[in-house]
Amino acid sequence: MLFAYDTTTALAAAAALVNSARTDEDTISTVAELGDFLDTHEFTGRRDRTRAELGAVQDLRDRIALFWEMDRDEAAEAVNAMLRETHALPYLSRHDGLDWHVHVTDVNDPLADRLAAEAAMAMADLIRADQFDRLGHCAGDDCTLVIVDLSRNRSRKFCVERNCGNRANVAAYRQRQADETDDSED
Ligand SMILES: [Zn+2]
Ligand SMILES: [Zn+2]
Repeated sequence: MLFAYDTTTALAAAAALVNSARTDEDTISTVAELGDFLDTHEFTGRRDRTRAELGAVQDLRDRIALFWEMDRDEAAEAVNAMLRETHALPYLSRHDGLDWHVHVTDVNDPLADRLAAEAAMAMADLIRADQFDRLGHCAGDDCTLVIVDLSRNRSRKFCVERNCGNRANVAAYRQRQADETDDSED
């Protein structure tokens, strides 16, 4: 395992948060959709289920997206700013069937602060391991989605959300078919 479970799950959640605004329809546009997102990523702790909380998460989403545009040094500054702003303070926690893992905010802190601090901690892990280039963009045609490639051989090229890998395979297959047809006509 390259990274701790906390880190891999937080990175997946951060990428999914960013991508929620980049699919054809914003998939975190309502309080209920935000709830679904949190359930999917097994995010525990306080939930207000208010428009204000949703707005704060949407603002955070734009901010987290910037990590994919930053170099490693810029990202380090951004991580520090987020940890400062959210008053991050590490402690070990064991809950909901999860063994000891690090939390840096209180379960009663505002949701957007807790999401921000977790994303910042996960980015910190990438930066200090000199693996910040694991953040990337989907190689699919016309796809603006972000990816986190935590595979051992750095083989991940495509996003999951739009299934771009599969679409690229189909396109390559059709191209081969077309080429073969052209060849037989020659
Ligand atoms: Zn936890
Ligand atoms: Zn894609």
